[in-house]
Amino acid sequence: MKHYIMALDQGTTSSRTIIYDKNGSIISVVQREFTQIFPHEGWVEHDPMEIWASQMGTAQEAILKAGLTYKNIAAIGITNQRETTVVWDKKTGEPVYNAIVWQCRRTADYAARLKPHEDMIRAKTGLLADPYFSGTKLAWILDNVPGVRARAERGELLFGTIESWLIWKMTGGEVHVSDYSNACRTMLFNINTLKWDEELCSLLNIPMCMLPEPVECSANYGETISELFGGPIPITGSAGDQQAALFGEACFNEGDIKSTYGTGNFLLLNTGEKPVTSKNGLLTTIAWGLNGKVNYALEGSVFVCGAAVQWLRDQMKFFRSAPESEEIAAQVPDAGGVYVVPAFVGLGAPYWDPEARGAMFGITRGTTREHIVRATLQSLVYQNEDLLAAMVADTGKEITTLKVDGGAALNDLLMQFQADISDVDIVRYASIESTSLGAAYLAGLAVGYYDGLADIIASKEIAKTFKPSLGEKTRKEKLAGWHRAVRATRAFHE
Ligand code: ADP
Repeated sequence: MKHYIMALDQGTTSSRTIIYDKNGSIISVVQREFTQIFPHEGWVEHDPMEIWASQMGTAQEAILKAGLTYKNIAAIGITNQRETTVVWDKKTGEPVYNAIVWQCRRTADYAARLKPHEDMIRAKTGLLADPYFSGTKLAWILDNVPGVRARAERGELLFGTIESWLIWKMTGGEVHVSDYSNACRTMLFNINTLKWDEELCSLLNIPMCMLPEPVECSANYGETISELFGGPIPITGSAGDQQAALFGEACFNEGDIKSTYGTGNFLLLNTGEKPVTSKNGLLTTIAWGLNGKVNYALEGSVFVCGAAVQWLRDQMKFFRSAPESEEIAAQVPDAGGVYVVPAFVGLGAPYWDPEARGAMFGITRGTTREHIVRATLQSLVYQNEDLLAAMVADTGKEITTLKVDGGAALNDLLMQFQADISDVDIVRYASIESTSLGAAYLAGLAVGYYDGLADIIASKEIAKTFKPSLGEKTRKEKLAGWHRAVRATRAFHE
């Protein structure tokens, strides 16, 4: 009988299930979108029951579609939207409130009040005092949903991020765990001791009895109840989406780094078994726990990446589909001196300037749509390069290869420019589905489907490598132009 790994990819806008064979080829994929709930300006919620139903629906359908049964599935791996917060009743499984989504800014004031404790928070969690993380979201539910705090203190309620919620549901309420890569995004978890932190829980007034047991990212958590798939399937892998992508790109060793070019851009650098504290506005996070060891990562994000291409498409109406941006940009030899700074929602690391807004510089009578498209694609590269430089500064180590995934990583012109500007080799694997692949690898390792990391590396196929081809002088000039453009952009709101 043939065996496969089933990856559950619970994202922000959709739930997907992908069944993989050992080579990482997709046997079956099913995706379902679910409702985005916006109760107030800046608030974002999901219905945990809809997340659960959509995720299980896609899993059942994916098995059926491929003509398989539960017996063909060697293990399940989960990857998920991070930080999103669920609280539910231990006995009934009923959520006490909607899931508060990572994007939700309702606890901005609460997080601002934690600023005096930021050094302690950073030292213990690797994070900043920000509403993005689960801690203040959980505190909000405890403080604002009637009766919830008393029930939590009586030990009747459980907290979990999405992987924790799904594992609890799939095991029929038997298993309440959270893997390290998700737990470390709560602002309640000490990334050095690998335990929930009493001081942080007391600062945020969180009853510790509601917290899940922290576990490694590849381990036997439990089995699915038979009602779901006709028989039990072991659940053996779990990681937050960005860490799963790092694993899926086979960035197993210290110094390995990946960039995910999606709506936004996430860069994660594996820093080995020691956490590195950033002096340049990056986050320190757990990459994964595996075989009794923990790997840490430095994480930087760019808010607007593929979103800038969407802006060219939808607002500027320069083209109909994102891939056309490449053909258009290729019609000119360079950006004609134009720089675009896509600070639509401010600038993230290393600038951290929330007030900044987008700008364009160097326009002449000869500037065309082609130049603007090319300059916009280049801006994605420059933003990434700023993060890479911050990582080099924080670790003191050179970066020579960058692995890429995400929708915009299919743009060859963009990838070549990244290789040129960052002076690194860009490696693009045949499959850019690295997030779900990472979850599949983690699950597969725990059941012996993969015989160690070397076995995974052997299964991966490089589709294309982009080598740097720009002279050092030109590279420096272009970068200097970008930094002038960023300074000018920031000066506009002074
Ligand atoms: P997400 O997971 O964040 O939804 P994806 O990884 O699916 O994002 O990537 C989609 C993003 O990539 C979109 O913002 C789109 O504009 C951009 N994109 C997709 N294909 C290309 C391309 N060939 N060139 C440039 N941008 C692209």
